Amino acid sequence: MLELRRNTTLMTRHYNFCAGPAALPTPVLERAREELLDYQGRGLSVMEMSHRSPEFVAIAEQAEADLRELLAVPENYKVLFLQGGASLQFSMVPMNLLGQGGSANFLYTGIWGKKALAEAKHLGFDVHMAGSSEPSGHAEVPTQADIALSADAAYLHYTANETIGGLEFDYIPDVGVPLVCDYSSSILAEPLDVSRFGVIYAGAQKNIGPAGLTLVLVRDDLLDRRCERIPSLFDYQAVAEAGSMVNTPPTYAWYLAGLVFQWLKHDIGGLEAMATINARKAAKLYAAIDASGFYSNPIALRNRSRMNVPFVLADASLDKTFLAEAEQAGLLNLAGHRSVGGMRASLYNAVPEAAVDALIDFMADFEQRRG
Ligand SMILES: *Cc1c(COP(=O)(O)O)cnc(C)c1O
Repeated sequence: MLELRRNTTLMTRHYNFCAGPAALPTPVLERAREELLDYQGRGLSVMEMSHRSPEFVAIAEQAEADLRELLAVPENYKVLFLQGGASLQFSMVPMNLLGQGGSANFLYTGIWGKKALAEAKHLGFDVHMAGSSEPSGHAEVPTQADIALSADAAYLHYTANETIGGLEFDYIPDVGVPLVCDYSSSILAEPLDVSRFGVIYAGAQKNIGPAGLTLVLVRDDLLDRRCERIPSLFDYQAVAEAGSMVNTPPTYAWYLAGLVFQWLKHDIGGLEAMATINARKAAKLYAAIDASGFYSNPIALRNRSRMNVPFVLADASLDKTFLAEAEQAGLLNLAGHRSVGGMRASLYNAVPEAAVDALIDFMADFEQRRG
């Protein structure tokens, strides 16, 4: 038998700046803990329920309704709850949208967009780079005027927020073909005009819930463009018809995402309110970085990510000390992505403003002592 530690009052939650899987709102975890063994008097855990049971179907439907309300999703869009992460969408999008020919066009603004392009190419689809931030060293996204679609473009794919580089679009491209957007690291950070897009997708583990769930919003008229021999689990139309239950969905992750939607609605007060808090969090961290002579961030002001703030120390030999002292101060997961190094503070919805204040205080103190 596992010995359970019963004294949960000893538990401390530190501030978690992880890029993903990321912080979840404490009230969500508390609610999940409360319901873990016995969901609302039913005598079993959500984890132990049939996905076809009335209890779980109600949980699933409530989550979709809350998400639709939060994002004001128009009626002609399907909401799909999938697995495979955002990375599987790199293949599913071309398989669903290129069945009638044409090429996949991409804006390349960082590592995730590049992977999306590579995956479409790997499957044998025609791909075209319609714009790139590479000339600026990924410090500035291509402008609307920079975008050059191929004549046979079936859609344009871009990454709203490049999680590793900390580069975020400050506009929604306006092109004559359906827009497909990887919103993994910034969905629900602010209100969004869903009607501008053909497909929006996001892995859950940044701003939605735990890992294992992927959200896809797809416009109805795009559901009949799929390749003929697409696996049914990859087929948006088949998944939509089955209510995202072609096979067993990630039920517990779906339930937790639903609790996050409830938290956004009732505790935060919706996405306008969330956006105000997020803007304040990011603005104060960037201001602290810019005011110091020790920390820096290279991204053009208009494209600085509000969700992922990468920064470097003037003396990289202090990186390890910085991270170790930060951890001792209860500030977790500030290391930059393994591919780029440096630091990165992810300020997703569930990271409270107090966490950002604590980080800023720590950074100032560290600079004074070591800088
Ligand atoms: C994290 C992330 C991904 C990869 O997500 P997985 O769920 O691990 O496949 C893709 N795109 C963006 C923008 C991300 O932040």
